Amino acid sequence: MSVEEGFTLLGPGPGLCPTCAVDHPTEDPHNAQSVFYQYRFRANRGRWPTWKDAIAHCTREVREEWERILRQVGEWTEPESEVPDVLPTPRRTIGTITEMDIDPTTENESTWNDV
Ligand SMILES: [Zn+2]
Repeated sequence: MSVEEGFTLLGPGPGLCPTCAVDHPTEDPHNAQSVFYQYRFRANRGRWPTWKDAIAHCTREVREEWERILRQVGEWTEPESEVPDVLPTPRRTIGTITEMDIDPTTENESTWNDV
């Protein structure tokens, strides 16, 4: 990696999830505690992500299981509202980070379009 590619250091490395930069199977939740995920999500959506967002692409069984466990340990989070608290960053300013549709309405479809 050359010096000019400095900005891409912020992106996920090879083999890592392009959304949260953590090594996890596609069907598993994103790591809501990943700083990369949090800033990327905030740039796209104008608010900080919650666990509900991190599991939105999973199957219903996975989502129910994670929500149950996270509620049990008091870690469950979900958006208070869909109203952004900052303006979403225009996509072109996000550099070389691969963009994916993370709209929760497509939660049952794979969002790994570019892999
Ligand atoms: Zn992920």
